[in-house]
Amino acid sequence: MKSLSIQTQNKINLPLLLKHIIPVIQAQWLGESDEMAIDHISIDSRSLQNGISTLFFALAGPNNDAHDYIGELIDTGVVNFVVTRIPDEVRGQANFLVVDNTLTALQQFAAFYRNQFHFPIIGITGSNGKTIVKEWLNFLLGPDYNIIRSPKSYNSQVGVPLSVMSINQKHNLGIFEAGISTTGEMEKLERIIRPTIGLLTNIGSAHDEGFANIGEKIKQKLKLFAHAEVLICHKNKTIDAFLNPSVKTFTWSCKHDEADVLITKKLVVDKTQLKVRLGADEFEIKVPFQDDASVENAIQCMMVMLHFGYEPTVIENRMSLLFPVEMRLKVKNGINNSMIIDDSYSSDFQSLKIALDFLENQKHYKKKTLILSDIFQSGLSNDELYSQVSELVISNKINRMIVVGETISKFKNKFLNCTAFASTKDLMAAIDTLSFGNETILVKGARDFKFEEVVALLEEKTHETVLEINLNAISHNLNYYRSKLDAKTKLMVMVKAFGYGNGGFEIAKLLEHHKTDYLGVAFADEGIALKNAGITLPIMVLNPETTSFTAIIQHRLEPEIYSIKGLNAFLRVAEQKKLEGYPIHLKLDTGMHRLGFEEKQLEELIFILRAHPAVQVKSILSHMATSDDLNHRDFALSQIALFDRLSERLMTELKIKPIRHILNTSGIENFPQAQYDMVRLGIGLYGISNDADEQKFLENVGTLKSIISQLRTIPAGDSVGYGRRFMATAPTKVATVPIGYADGISRHWGNGNGHVVINGKKAPILGSVCMDMLMVDVSEIKCKEGDAVIIFGENPTVIQMAQKLETIPYEILTSISQRVKRVFYRE
Ligand SMILES: *Cc1c(COP(=O)(O)O)cnc(C)c1O
Repeated sequence: MKSLSIQTQNKINLPLLLKHIIPVIQAQWLGESDEMAIDHISIDSRSLQNGISTLFFALAGPNNDAHDYIGELIDTGVVNFVVTRIPDEVRGQANFLVVDNTLTALQQFAAFYRNQFHFPIIGITGSNGKTIVKEWLNFLLGPDYNIIRSPKSYNSQVGVPLSVMSINQKHNLGIFEAGISTTGEMEKLERIIRPTIGLLTNIGSAHDEGFANIGEKIKQKLKLFAHAEVLICHKNKTIDAFLNPSVKTFTWSCKHDEADVLITKKLVVDKTQLKVRLGADEFEIKVPFQDDASVENAIQCMMVMLHFGYEPTVIENRMSLLFPVEMRLKVKNGINNSMIIDDSYSSDFQSLKIALDFLENQKHYKKKTLILSDIFQSGLSNDELYSQVSELVISNKINRMIVVGETISKFKNKFLNCTAFASTKDLMAAIDTLSFGNETILVKGARDFKFEEVVALLEEKTHETVLEINLNAISHNLNYYRSKLDAKTKLMVMVKAFGYGNGGFEIAKLLEHHKTDYLGVAFADEGIALKNAGITLPIMVLNPETTSFTAIIQHRLEPEIYSIKGLNAFLRVAEQKKLEGYPIHLKLDTGMHRLGFEEKQLEELIFILRAHPAVQVKSILSHMATSDDLNHRDFALSQIALFDRLSERLMTELKIKPIRHILNTSGIENFPQAQYDMVRLGIGLYGISNDADEQKFLENVGTLKSIISQLRTIPAGDSVGYGRRFMATAPTKVATVPIGYADGISRHWGNGNGHVVINGKKAPILGSVCMDMLMVDVSEIKCKEGDAVIIFGENPTVIQMAQKLETIPYEILTSISQRVKRVFYRE
């Protein structure tokens, strides 16, 4: 956060020195020098932006403790840390500010920093629409102000402090959002944001479980406005009841005459017309949306413009240009083995930093290219701005730059290996000469530059059906299961079958960051692909074929050994290569009767292992047949008991202390007492539990999507599809969707059994599912060609689909064919 180094007109002198920060966060200081200058705050150990003037706050969640990364950070040159404890191995090697709680310290520091500035700040909260309203306000007010706003949806206890610490003295308007999930959180965010103008967006049901009732939720949210000069909100009895009478409000309504602004809505072609009455004034505007949520969000923005005293003509002009907001960074496959990170809708310094961190964490290819447009609204002079961009790009080790725009092109010389284009059109005309391939490309541009067209050119051409994978949801689910385990229990995550159909490398990479202990795959080639892509976590291979032993050893994969024959075969290869203590995993059959040693084979197994130091038993495992079915609880317990006895015997007689593990996802839920030293998490990571109560705590990971290719209306008496298995009894509107059984959609899903969701509504499948297509009934749905079609995701869920198809979610997920493109994103 470069802004920290800029001189302000305020109470303190910047850059801040450590000694200024120590009293603010009430830290105990242990180190070499408290005169170090700090100009960057970080909580992300992976960021290449960390350096000598970084102050790193070691946050500790229930599952991930940044104190574990301090050693690595010291190696990369970071010397200043806020910690709750100093890990032994790094004692004396850096400056440590010891506090009771690092998150509280981060918040205290942010509040202190925010208070150095005095300009209007809009604080936004509500259940829905916060980020959209923030982005729209940024667009609407941007021509007249230097705005600092929360990047993406940074609205949490961590995100808000990081957002405000990017303020610099050139800014003259702030827009920050605050999100809470339970009581007691908003007071903290209020101290950090200190909004002077409050904006309450729609109160819906998001995060309901964290609050006793809707009243409680409203009361908590309103705490953001405790010191605001004015609160802008919808006039509404439920909210009125909780308003502090001393807070000045500026309200709107479509019904209540008591509201300050009265609005009449009318749908016109593709738009909504709003008649606005404020006192004696009346005017009309049009917004380019028809759905209630967008129109409501647009009205909130208009209220802010009215509060700022904008003329109706300006309001009308700017509001007519509002656009759908794309908040995600998307990862896509590109041409010639490249990978694209698509952030083609915004360009400001703050979001560039975030995108560069994302690039580093997600990169598939070492070579990194950045395509960047002019940057707007930095608050800085162009020379200062592009010098900072250049520093940022250098610290992130970008190999090649492609800059687009009149302004950034002038500063081309600040970048190494840089090609400049005056316009997006020029770049697109020259794209073939830039020979993209075997690289990770971050595409980052302001809206006006229409970089989505550049992405379209660079994207690998496939059909329109995609499986979207939410990486945040995977992290959430992982942490959920970790929270159920003892702190010392290790975690193996099963990424077999291409990560249960969700994607192999990308998910393994994420798990590596989360420091899981092991990965599990079914076959050697899956493990080899991961190792070749740079995954360094140990990988256990469940089904190592004898023919793959050489490759297994070559790639340091660890085989599961389940038979005497397999053991002997592996020993032959290992001894020929003169190995010593090569890690293997012994599988015991305790009742599943699939793979594994039986009790009667243990004597021979022990005899062989004693005689052959070429291998070392890294772990002993077994697998349960009924961990998900409490009707078979006794059987499950008998498997655990047998595992206990057999593994004890191996340990005693071989005098070894291997990792023991028997639980899969359902086992973690139902038999936590049997977690031994490690568990093997599978389906739960991908957002699916076999237990309905448990399911509520998981987040949906995969959404299988397609589009409408063609629409037609057929008369009664006509049929649809092969074999005329659907006969229309009335005129029927039919949509064709390019996904079929070759993509993994069961034929049993057709002929009246299944449906897809289009624009929020159910569309039943008509007739049989074809190889590459299916047809659905959209008679009752407003839709057009090109509209999105949801096959599964939040609704319908894979679980609902599996129930109807009389199968299990595992089969549906792993059946999605590899020709369906996987797209990974973070919220
Ligand atoms: C697939 C698998 C798991 C994971 O099972 P889930 O039910 O998906 O959690 C664990 N152990 C073994 C041996 C497996 O094959």
